[in-house]
Formats: sequence, structure tokens, C-alpha cells
Amino acid sequence: MHILLANPRGFCAGVNMAIECLEQAIQIFGSEIYVYHEIVHNKHVVERFTGQGVTFVDSVDEVPSGSILLYSAHGVSPEVREASKTRNLQTIDATCPLVTKVHMEAIRYAREGYHIILIGHEGHDEVIGTMGEAPESISLVETPEEVEDLPFDADAKIAYLTQTTLSVAEASAVIDRLKRRYPQIVSPPKEDICYATTNRQDAVATLVPRSDVVIVLGSQNSSNSRRLMEIGQAAEKPAYLIDGVEELRDDWFEGVGNVLITAGASAPEVDVQQCIDYLVARFDATFEDVTIREEHVYFPLPRELRSLQAES
Ligand code: SF4
Repeated sequence: MHILLANPRGFCAGVNMAIECLEQAIQIFGSEIYVYHEIVHNKHVVERFTGQGVTFVDSVDEVPSGSILLYSAHGVSPEVREASKTRNLQTIDATCPLVTKVHMEAIRYAREGYHIILIGHEGHDEVIGTMGEAPESISLVETPEEVEDLPFDADAKIAYLTQTTLSVAEASAVIDRLKRRYPQIVSPPKEDICYATTNRQDAVATLVPRSDVVIVLGSQNSSNSRRLMEIGQAAEKPAYLIDGVEELRDDWFEGVGNVLITAGASAPEVDVQQCIDYLVARFDATFEDVTIREEHVYFPLPRELRSLQAES
């Protein structure tokens, strides 16, 4: 057995920043901290912080008045910010700057009188946050077919935005359909699908032809991780999305030569390493790291946390 380790894989700059944010907040305030939704969509990361005493909530109402509330990497709507103010919460915003960029674009287009088509997955935390910026001016579509159901006239003033963690190929199919139906549609000059999503997908797409099985480390609710698994499936390779080594099954590897391993943007590298260790010990596997692109992106901690650090 030979393992092809896709690179880039695993933590992106937004996830690194959000996790560091929570770690620093624990250092400053102790672990009596609340986090709005999962800090990042990863079971092991959430379990680690829960073990330290952090409480994850789905509603601001669950947070005692006057407490500290950290917003996750996926961002929140203005409604949530307002509810936090009303409850007199001290908030720390760990929203990824690339998600904030999409919020800003939504606000700008809505102000300029555009109706916005947001391409994304219904119910995802990021989509809920973005739609909350201009609920009257945003419609969500997931598939090219849904474009045909949009109620807008052919000459409507419309713009499109995308969730940051979509499949590049699937988003293109929706965008093509939008452009065909609304040739005048506008969009931001730079893609909303983020660099980390694009790079992880490109790495898997490059290596999948050489692979017999694809293993993606990541949680089931991680959008970008699911997209990596789907690239494997689209290439008609068995592809599995797992949280960790405990989910690997030996029968996946019967008669297998090359195993492609990658990790979604919220999956810790330790989960990858444990899988490699297992396959080396169990199947005498060799491995190589295959880098298709270098990443040098870093996001600083949010201002409110930096000033608290300076005071402490
Ligand atoms: S996947 Fe992209 S948008 Fe999401 S946290 Fe990472 S860098 Fe930010």
C-alpha cells in the first residue's frame, strides 16, 4: 500500500485564527465562555473545548446575561449581534475575514438596489449569517435547476455571491446557468469560494486519478470536507469522510494499491497522522506528501481580543 498525502490539506487560516481566538479567550477569562455554534465544524475540536469547560450554544438566549460569547468562524447575522447587545454580552468575533468579505458584499449590493442570488447550502451556519445581512434582498439557490425557478424578470437588477466552501465545479455550473438567464448579472471582482477550499479541491482532483481509495478527515457537517469526498466519488473511487482513525475499516483496503488521504479545512493534522500510523502498522504502507500549491495565509486575531491581551 502506498499513501498519497494531499497537500494543502487540513486547517486553513480562518480555522487557525478561530481556534487560537478561543484558546486565548480561555487564557484571559478562564473556560466559562460561550461559543455561538461550533467554533469550527469538527467533532474532535469541539470535544476538546467542551472538555475544557466551554459551552457551545445555538441561541443567544442560552447565554447568561453579562457572559462572554465568541462568534464562530462561520459568522453571524446582525440579528444575533443585536440579541447579544440586548443580553449585555461581551462578544469576541472569530468570524473568518473571508466570510466577513461576503457579508460586506451582500450589504453593498443590497444598498445599491440589487437582488442577490446566494449560491450555497440551505441551513449552513455561514449561509444563515450572510442571508441575515439583507434578508429581503437575498434568494438562496443550490443547483442549476433552481435558477430556472427564480421569479425575477429577465432584465432584473441582480448580483450573485457564493458560500466560501462550495465545490468549485458545482458553483460554476450554477453561475453559468445564472449568466445564461441573466446576462447582466454582476458579481464581486474576486471569487467568494475561498483559497483554502479551492486549493484542497485542486489537490484531490490532481491526485485522484492515481488513487484507488480516498480518505477525507473531517466531520459530516463540514461543507468543504464533504466536497472533497464528492470529488473522489465523482471519479468513481470509493471515498470516505471520517472523523478519525477509529472509523477506518480494514475491508476498505483489500487489494488496494494507492490510498489518497486529505483533510478538510477544519480537521486537525493529528487525525491524519493517526490514520497514517495505523495504515503503516497494519498494511506496511509507505507514504509521500504531494504538494500541489504552497499556502502562506495568516489572519490576525480580532481587534477586541488583541486589546484584551494587551490589558491582561
Ligand atoms: S474554509 Fe475558507 S472561508 Fe472557511 S474559515 Fe477557512 S479560510 Fe475562512
